[in-house]
Order: sequence, then C-alpha cells, then structure tokens
Amino acid sequence: GEMPLDRWLAGYIRDVPDHPRPGVLFKDYSALLAEPRAFAAAVDFLAELCSRRRATKVAGLEARGFLLGTPVAVRCELGFVPVRKKGKLPGRTLSRAYELEYGSDVIEIQQDALGPRDRVIVLDDVLATGGTALAAASLIAETGAQVVSVAVLLELGALSGRRRMERDLAGVPLDALITA
Ligand code: AMP
Repeated sequence: GEMPLDRWLAGYIRDVPDHPRPGVLFKDYSALLAEPRAFAAAVDFLAELCSRRRATKVAGLEARGFLLGTPVAVRCELGFVPVRKKGKLPGRTLSRAYELEYGSDVIEIQQDALGPRDRVIVLDDVLATGGTALAAASLIAETGAQVVSVAVLLELGALSGRRRMERDLAGVPLDALITA
C-alpha cells in the first residue's frame, strides 16, 4: 500500500547532532523544502488545517516558520503575519519576552497586523518545549484576535510541549503533521 503522509515526509527531515549548540539534536527540513512534491504535500496538509480551523490569518514564526507559512497562506487564500525577533519589524509593535533553555528572547508583531475579528493559526516548523509557540499565542491574543491552532510540521514528543500547551493554552489545539 501507499506510505502514510507523516512517514513519507519524516524521511525528508534530517537529524543534525549538536546544532546550533552541543547537546541539541537539530531537526533539519531543508531536504523537504528541496523536494517539490514533499514540500507541496506538507503545504497542502497545513492549508487543509487552516480551512478546518476556519482561520482568517496565518502567523508564521521567524525564520523557518516563514518558509512554510507563506505558501500555506497563499494556498488557503489567507493573509500572512510575520512574528519576528525583537527589532526587525518597523512601526508600532507588541512584544513578548519568553524563557529559553539558555537565557531568554523577545518576539514581536506589528500592532495593526491583527484584530478582534481574526482567527489565527500559529505556524512553525518544530514544536519542542512549546515556549516559542506559547509566547506567540499570548502576543496574538493581546491584539484581541483568537488563536485557533498552533500548527507545526514536527512535534518533538519527548519535550512535552503538548502538555505545556494544554496547561497554559487550554482550548487551543496543537496540530502536528509529524510526531517524533
Ligand atoms: P520551543 O520554544 O522549545 O518549542 O522551540 C521551538 C522553536 O525552536 C521553533 O522555532 C524551532 O524552529 C526551534 N527548535 C527548537 N528545537 C529544535 C530542534 N530540535 N530542531 C529544530 N528546530 C528547533
């Protein structure tokens, strides 16, 4: 029979030990981006999710969430909103600090990018601890918009991001194409 979508696409994700720091097993999806049928299949899956969740906007997380989020937004005919690291977006912004494994970071969106009528799908490549997605979701909620899903290409199950999301972001579904 035909290979399931998640198994097929998992074959295009490479484990890179000790990147960008010792001890991190980096999930590199460059090979998926480089294979047009695999890339298209991932985009189609995520675009289908946007429809199912009745999203009105796609919010992509810098930087690898942009690579997936922009084609998904075009495919489902929705606007794209970039969530960026501090200092990159011009004009008035809203920002949120969050803790990382080592240190902390700040993400921002443009203040006028979203409003109370928006239903937003937060899109990234990998969910690990869930800290980044949670920060993005709380930032988006501050605009009055509703977060209808956090969607990722790959969920790292061992890092319990799902449980953290269920605890701190109750009612927002986590949609993962691949779970590892
Ligand atoms: P976290 O906030 O711990 O869920 O980490 C998620 C963010 O860090 C995403 O933007 C990912 O792109 C990146 N990330 C974290 N861990 C990995 C990993 N093992 N491989 C690739 N990207 C990762």
